[in-house]
Amino acid sequence: MYPAPFRYHRAESVAEAIGMLSELGEGARALAGGQSLLVLLKIRFDEPTDLVDLARIPGLDAIEQRDGEVRIGALATHARIARSEIAAAIPIVRDCANGIADNQVRSRGTIGGNLCSGDPSCDWPALLTTLDAQVHCEGPAGKRSLPVDGFVEDLYATALQEGEIVTGVSFALPGPGSAGAYVGFKRCAPAYPTTSVGVQLTLSGADCVDARIALGSSGLTPIHATAAEAELRGQTLGEAVIRRAAEAAVAASDPIDDQRGSPAFKRRLIDTLVRRGIDVARRRCAGEQVEVSHEYY
Ligand SMILES: Cc1cc2nc3c(=O)[nH]c(=O)nc-3n(C[C@H](O)[C@H](O)[C@H](O)COP(=O)(O)OP(=O)(O)OC[C@H]3O[C@@H](n4cnc5c(N)ncnc54)[C@H](O)[C@@H]3O)c2cc1C
Repeated sequence: MYPAPFRYHRAESVAEAIGMLSELGEGARALAGGQSLLVLLKIRFDEPTDLVDLARIPGLDAIEQRDGEVRIGALATHARIARSEIAAAIPIVRDCANGIADNQVRSRGTIGGNLCSGDPSCDWPALLTTLDAQVHCEGPAGKRSLPVDGFVEDLYATALQEGEIVTGVSFALPGPGSAGAYVGFKRCAPAYPTTSVGVQLTLSGADCVDARIALGSSGLTPIHATAAEAELRGQTLGEAVIRRAAEAAVAASDPIDDQRGSPAFKRRLIDTLVRRGIDVARRRCAGEQVEVSHEYY
């Protein structure tokens, strides 16, 4: 099916994009890589009057590390992030970027669009929750930064206000003894995950000083599994502790019944993925090079 007719506008700056979106009103949508929006337009699930293309705004795709902080511009594509020095230095970022769909989608889809689509199957919101990231927004009322935890408020709904866009995300560079893993399971490479799990650990020997765990594709929004983290924090990472953390993560999930599997199947997967994520994060904390990505059958 062809999309319903719409007017196309190309913004040359953040200010111009905000001005256009504000002036054009609720029928207008921002366009980044188009990998979600154009699909919705083609099935006429959404029929915007106007598209404001952000893709040519200079500087909005920067990936940089400064003053102990990583900052990724909203227009950075999954492929560019996967190839970046940041991904080489922080393997959990590489796990996520490389696990998304296929080369074609990774070359067009952006981290900002992934976050703003509010799609519970998208990987970056869960990964960024694992890293306790901030989302940087700019709109008619100026700039603001929000915690990523809670940015996706409901199914396809975010905290963005009318005329507002995401300009980038940032998170603290993991410190010494800290490493993570992002693991997912999907039906085939170009498909969204059935479930995914991010784990970031800070260890002192076998003792867990700090832990962050987030779940993707496990409910209507990304899930910050705080009870699972509490099972790990301050504990020596033994089998019983890890089992309790996995059980708490499963209890925090609320998977839906769809073509990717039943809730019971997804809960089993979450249990397995939490254990795998902890195992890989732990080995990376110890300096081991471990390659993981989304697995499929
Ligand atoms: C076949 C296929 C498989 C996929 N598999 C996966 C997967 O496994 N994992 C995964 O995470 N993703 C997957 N995706 C999604 C893809 O990764 C894109 O990230 C995602 O579609 C959105 O990014 P985009 O840049 O294409 O955004 P667009 O499609 O351009 O926009 C998406 C939404 O965000 C809004 N938007 C975009 N940028 C901004 C901004 N800066 N500020 C405010 N609003 C904005 C748009 O208005 C729109 O509502 C898949 C997509 C396809 C087509």
